[in-house]
Order: sequence, then structure tokens, then C-alpha cells
Amino acid sequence: MVETNTPSPLHDERISLPSRLFLEAVEQLSVAISITDVQANILYANPACVLLTGYEAGELIGQNESLLSDKRTPTAVYEDMWRTIRAGRTWSGMLVNRRKSGAPYLADLTVAPVTDDEGKVIYFLGMHRDVTAMHNLQKQVLNQKTLIESVLNSAPVAMALVDKRGKVILDNLAYKSLRTDLGGKEPASCVLEAWLSASGVDFKQACRKEREFHNFEIRLDHSPGRGERWFSCSGSWAHELVLGPASYFEETERQAGLFLVCSEITEQRRQHELARTNAVRALLAEQHLTQAMRETLWGALYQLQGPFNVIAAATDLFERQKDPDSPLLGALKQVLHSGREAMDRLRAAVPAGSQEAVQPVNLNEAIRNVLGVMTHRFLVQGVVVDWEPDKELLVVPGRLNALQSLIKHLLDNAVDAVGEPGAKAREIHLRSGRLSDGRVEVVIEDRGPGVPAAFRLKAFEPFFSGWKARRGGSGMGLALAQEIVTEQGGSIEFDPEFSSGARVRVLLTSTTGGDQ
Ligand code: FAD
Repeated sequence: MVETNTPSPLHDERISLPSRLFLEAVEQLSVAISITDVQANILYANPACVLLTGYEAGELIGQNESLLSDKRTPTAVYEDMWRTIRAGRTWSGMLVNRRKSGAPYLADLTVAPVTDDEGKVIYFLGMHRDVTAMHNLQKQVLNQKTLIESVLNSAPVAMALVDKRGKVILDNLAYKSLRTDLGGKEPASCVLEAWLSASGVDFKQACRKEREFHNFEIRLDHSPGRGERWFSCSGSWAHELVLGPASYFEETERQAGLFLVCSEITEQRRQHELARTNAVRALLAEQHLTQAMRETLWGALYQLQGPFNVIAAATDLFERQKDPDSPLLGALKQVLHSGREAMDRLRAAVPAGSQEAVQPVNLNEAIRNVLGVMTHRFLVQGVVVDWEPDKELLVVPGRLNALQSLIKHLLDNAVDAVGEPGAKAREIHLRSGRLSDGRVEVVIEDRGPGVPAAFRLKAFEPFFSGWKARRGGSGMGLALAQEIVTEQGGSIEFDPEFSSGARVRVLLTSTTGGDQ
């Protein structure tokens, strides 16, 4: 309700227009005008009032204005109106009116008191317009807003509109619940921070150039008890129409903000990771099998070589005694011949090593793959693994599967070592790093009993085993690890300086040079 106290122009002595003109003006106005006595009994109604209410002028004159009341207006509104106008002030407000036909309409009414020379209220002037259409429009906007809000709220993805200052001005239920999961941290800030740092622009630039992003994957932590969660995010710029009189004839748009949509992909990523880990596991298992066969056959050849050398030496001795008819020499020659054939057959049966192509390998990724495969073993044996990857690890040219197999050999040894008598802790520390000469290193430390100085080189020989606890290993693990490293142009050694267990350092050449 609005109250004003403007003096009527009719009382202004400076106006010397003919009073007939005022009547004509009122008659021709498109606003419904009525003049009542102090009890609101209608004395005059203009044609616009007749048109709006549906009553003839004759039907209105003499009736109280309450004739127009739809009875749905709360009494408090009338009370306020009457209190105001009786005090000689103007009242404005909304009422629900009813036409002669019974159809209701929303009236925007202004009632102004008309006073005599002593200031006593002698008439009331009523002016009202049908504002039903405008009201409906407002309701429509409100309905649309409610509809949009309920659609946004029922969406299973988190959505938010972020203004130019980075402030969230609109969000949905999924967004709110994500914020709660993040302990009150604004998800939009996390997404924007990550995206801006990845794209190398600041938020002001992004706003100015209207930079957008799609399928940007981000990990959001701090969800107590829920572990890490992954989201695929997109940000697109939303615009709105500029309000105000200037936009009446010319519609202009302005930036409303960045519309963020974050859809959770934790499960997809988990499945993807699982599939990848399974693939790596299958590959390593196959390699393990092949290596086991190679180890067995090379082991058999190695074992046979001894007696075979003795037979060869004996044959040579008999031959030098120049007794070609000796039946023993004939038998020895036959044994030697069939032995050679048997060993050639065995050599031919040794499965070939992997024919994998050399490619750029990210060692961090290779290590992560192996850690994924070995998680179960670590858990079962209660081994704690501390993995410290170099954030900017260089890529090395190599054979991915062979390198994974190398890391697995070393980690298998480390797990065995921390289970040995004399182990200090069930801990393995693993880190990757970059040397200033451009090489990349992988260091695996265990808190086992360590490798005695006398065994540090011998440990890389085939069939060497220095474990105290009995296990099924053939003693070929480190020999194979060295073969892989050498084949990739790198080196592997036990760190003689390390005394808290064993520390194996693998050095590989990276694709780019070192720090200049
Ligand atoms: P009522 O019982 O008559 O009134 C409701 C309350 O209003 C009462 O409890 C009382 O507190 C107060 N009231 C009513 N009459 C008086 C009075 N004479 N003195 C002091 N307090 C009083 N009403 C509309 O619904 N539509 C209109 O378009 C409209 N136009 C008006 C134009 C003018 C110039 C004036 C002076 C009044 C207008 N009214 C209009 C108000 C109308 O006169 C009634 O007060 C209103 O319709 C309520 O009537 P009612 O019979 O429903 O309730």
C-alpha cells in the first residue's frame, strides 16, 4: 500500500482552466474514475469505470463501492485503506474486484480524499485499473522459475551459476549436497581453480573471452568416508536480457554468469581402472608364465651343460688316445651327438622374449599399474607402501610391459624382503625422480634385512637366491630385471650406502635431455 499527500490541482489557485475541461478529461480517461461521499457511496463513475466493471453508470450511482468487492480481499486491506483515507491521506493498493458478470479481476486502486476549505474530507476520488494480465505475467514468471528450479533440483548432476566475481548465484540440490559432502567447500571454486590452472588463464580473462570447457575431469576429495570422487565438468556462459527502460525499444543481453555442470563419474572411472588393472594383471601373468618357462628351460640347459661338458672332455680324451675302434669312444660320441641334439631341441623350445615395440612410457603410470595389480598382495601381507611419484616425471623410451614386469619383480622382492627374519618394518618406499643429467630414476626401498655387500652383485646372477625363508622362487627375478634394464639402455644396482633395508635404484634414459 502506498500513501501520498499531494494537494489536488483543483485547489491550486494558479490554475485558471475552465472546470468543464477537468470533467471532459475525466470522462475521456482510460482509467476507471469514481467519486464517492465519505461512506464510499458512488456519486460519479466515468465511462472507463462503466466499461471495466460492466455496470451501467445508473447501476453504479448510489451504490457503495463494496458492490465491486469480490470478498476475497482480506479485511485488513480495507481497514488499512479506510484508516489512511479517513486521516486525509491517499491510499494505493491491490484488491480483488468482481465485474457485473461475476468475473473477478485484480484492481490496482488509488483512493484520494477530497477536502473542503477547512481541510475536512468531503469526497473520495477512486482510480483503478485492471492489472490481472500483469499479475498473471508475474505469476507466469514465478511459475517458470519454480518449474526451472524443480527441473534443476531433480537433475542428478550438480549445477551452479557463477557470476563474474566467482560467486555462486544459483544452484541445485545435487550441488548443495555435494557442497555438504565436501565439508562446506564450494565445489564451483574447486572446479574453477583446477580448470583455470590447467588452461593457464585467470578468471577475469576467462569472463572477458567467454572461455568455456567441456568434459573436464576433476577429482574432488574431502568427502569423509567416501574416498575420492571424480567429476566430469563443463562450463558454458549464460546470458540474460538487460532490464530497465533503456531496453524497452532495444533488447540487449548481458553475461549472467558461467553455468557449471558437474556429473559424477567415480563409478565409470572405477570400472575403467578395474578393467585396466585386470588387463595389466593378465599381461603380467602371461609374461610371468613365459618367463617361468624360459627360466625352467634355461635352468635345465644350465644344469645339463655341466655333465655334458664332462662327456665332451672324456670323448676328447679318448680321441687323443688314438683308439678309434674303442667301443667306449663310439658310445661316448653317440651320447655326445644325441645330447647335443637334445640340448638344441631344448634351446629351440625356449619361448622368445616379448617382441613389444619401444614407445614413450610414463614410468609413474607403469608403477601405478603395477601397484594396482599388487594391492591385494600388499593387503594380505600387511605391507604399507609409500608411493611418491615425481610430479613432472619425464617419459622414457621403452617397452611398457617389460618395464611393468621389471617393477613387479622388484616390488615382489621387496614384499618378500619385509617378510624375512630380521626385517625392521613391513614398509616399502617407492619414488620416481629426475636427475639433472636427464635420466629418470625409480627407487624401491624396503625395510627388510638388506642385501649383504658380498651379495650385491651376485644377486643379479641367474639362479642366485639368498632368502632365508623358503619360497618357490628360482633366483631368476633380479637376473631378468637386469636383462630388462640393460635392454632399455639403463642400469640397476643396490645402493651400498643404504643400511635400513635394501634400496634398489633403476636408472633409465629419458626422451629429452636434462637440465641445461
Ligand atoms: P465492510 O465490512 O464494509 O468493510 C471491511 C472493513 O473496512 C470494515 O471492517 C471496516 O474496518 C472498513 N470500513 C468499511 N467501510 C468503512 C467506513 N465507511 N469507514 C471506516 N472503515 C470502513 N472496495 C472494493 O472492494 N473495490 C473497490 O474498487 C473499491 N473502491 C473504493 C473506492 C473509494 C473511493 C472508496 C472510498 C472505497 C472503495 N472501496 C472499494 C472500499 C469499499 O467501500 C468497502 O469498504 C470494501 O469493499 C469492503 O466492503 P465489505 O462490504 O466487503 O466490507
